[in-house]
Amino acid sequence: MNAPAPSNANPLLSPALLPDFPAITPAHVVPAVEAVLADYRAAVERLVADPSARDFDSLAAPLEQLDERLSRTWSPVSHLHGVQDSPALREVYSDADERITEFTTELGQHRGLFEAMTAVRAGAGFASLDRAQRTLVEDSLRGFRNSGVALEEPARTRFRAIQTELSKLDTAFEEAVLDASEAWSLPLAEAQLAGLPPSARELLAGQAKAKGRDGFLATLKGPVVQALLTYADDRALRETVYAAYHTRASDQGPHAGQYDNSERIARILALRHESARLLGFASAAHESLDDKMAGTPERVLAFLRELAAKAKPVAQRELEELRAFASAELGLDELQPWDVAWASEKLRVARYAFEEEQLKPYFALPGVLKGVLDLATDLFGVRFAERFDVPVWHADAQYFDVLDADGTLRAGVYFDHYAREGKRGGAWMDVCRSRLGLTGQIPVAYLTCNAAPPVEGRPSLLTHDDVLTLFHEFGHGLHHLLTEIGWPAVSGIHGVEWDAVELPSQFMENFGWKREALDRFARHWQTGEPLPEALFAKMTAARHFHAGLFLVRQLEFALYDFRLHLEYDPALGPRTLELLDEVRAEVSVMTPPAWQRFPHAFTHIFAGGYAAGYYSYLWAEVLSADAFGAFEDAARLSGSVFDAATGERYRREILAVGGSRPALESFIAFRGREPDPMALLKSYGLVA
Ligand SMILES: [Zn+2]
Repeated sequence: MNAPAPSNANPLLSPALLPDFPAITPAHVVPAVEAVLADYRAAVERLVADPSARDFDSLAAPLEQLDERLSRTWSPVSHLHGVQDSPALREVYSDADERITEFTTELGQHRGLFEAMTAVRAGAGFASLDRAQRTLVEDSLRGFRNSGVALEEPARTRFRAIQTELSKLDTAFEEAVLDASEAWSLPLAEAQLAGLPPSARELLAGQAKAKGRDGFLATLKGPVVQALLTYADDRALRETVYAAYHTRASDQGPHAGQYDNSERIARILALRHESARLLGFASAAHESLDDKMAGTPERVLAFLRELAAKAKPVAQRELEELRAFASAELGLDELQPWDVAWASEKLRVARYAFEEEQLKPYFALPGVLKGVLDLATDLFGVRFAERFDVPVWHADAQYFDVLDADGTLRAGVYFDHYAREGKRGGAWMDVCRSRLGLTGQIPVAYLTCNAAPPVEGRPSLLTHDDVLTLFHEFGHGLHHLLTEIGWPAVSGIHGVEWDAVELPSQFMENFGWKREALDRFARHWQTGEPLPEALFAKMTAARHFHAGLFLVRQLEFALYDFRLHLEYDPALGPRTLELLDEVRAEVSVMTPPAWQRFPHAFTHIFAGGYAAGYYSYLWAEVLSADAFGAFEDAARLSGSVFDAATGERYRREILAVGGSRPALESFIAFRGREPDPMALLKSYGLVA
């Protein structure tokens, strides 16, 4: 099945475990992808035409190998596109990306393949397959069903027409938000900048410069709006910016009606509902839950309402405190929505007098990285050995072998820490190779961050946020690297329910807040001193500042999104604004003005993948907080969160199994019970 590469000259077709990055040029990309896709297509047709290929070994297994070959070819290209981009690469990247997308769609709509996989499921051998194999087949069938391929005419054609229209509407929704954001700007006089820190002034100067102007320009870019609402002492300016931002793409505000998303929202909700019904679901919310851990709408609603019941009184208290502070110290008698972030910042400074900058000397990158790797050694029994003979894409990149305690090579991982030209911003973990039992291939991951590079005589100094980000991505990495499952579709992070996939990453972040963990790597880069207790205490206290207000906002988004999709009734049409009022009455503590149009720019759910899934953020936080709770419980007995027995259990029940079984089962196997929302409230500091 795994045909030898047609040309050994193309490094993207090499059978070697690790990509030969320096040898890859843009000219290799399209020919390699074309060759792999042609082989893949031909092999699928052969499999479908062969009536004897109707069990796991003869159908699902070869498909896994075909898919892994495509992934092996594409992964280094997509990685280079992210970390070492160039105009030439970008061009071939989008060309090849289009071909792959087209192919994937074609495969998802392949009726013959769906029928062949259905036969595998119905076959006599299915029951004797192992758990991972059965899950793989079930997942694949669910994917086919939910892409409409199982439907009979005329439903099938209608379903496809809906998907095409929805994809256009998603794009149009997002473009309207972008256009509305671009359409508004406001030149600012020096006097209006009062209160802004130097970084915010620079940001505004940058906005002006980008438009070919001098001076300072307010725009509706996220960081600009955030900076102005947080720091600008000019109240009228804050109100203007708030109003422009929260009426984007709507029937209100400075560009009322011009980019209005109202009709698009109505149409999107109607089509999602119709499409879910065609697939046999009661609503789009039911459809969304089909591949999520939460399972039923009742569970999601109960979960959100339980959190709301606990969070709302805390948020109310925080708001009252803020009102009192604003009135006594800031001369604001009536706190408006555009005052909240500004007054909160003043209160935060008054209370904690705490600057992120004070922490940075304690977080020098080489030490933090060593800390993170040592932590995995203590918790999960794996060692990391750096290798200098592995070809990388840039001198900053590092490669480590991941070894078990007995020295067995288990996996490999690349790190690329620093921001530079041609590298995408943000941080992420990506898959280079998946574990493939058939060939003995080990998993390999990329971990990419964007920390400030070292300068002459000084290492890279991270913010505490950067440290948490590294822990987070490393957690995703461990999920991939420590998997025991040899079928890529359900191995590591693959096939894990969408609302559970952030468990291992958010779990690791908790260590970034633990004194015991910080003491291992937080050392002043010049003096070697550990983090002073006073600084640690301030950092910890500031962590939970206004956690209640934050949580009720997230609950408002989550409950609104979920009910909007769950309660859609074609006879009534979308209750876009009415429902928002209902949700706010239930969970919010501050009512925005009637002209506020938050839904019209809610791209997460109308243009992103979060439809009837926004609750997932909170859901995954419960899982990670509750899983970490097991280590805190162990620490109460043994005195240390680095408890090897708990670590071993976590590795076995959560990390090793990947998507081979339902996340709820894995969680219960680890924790001995179902997840408890109280864990999230505790981690937010809302309950003792
Ligand atoms: Zn993540």
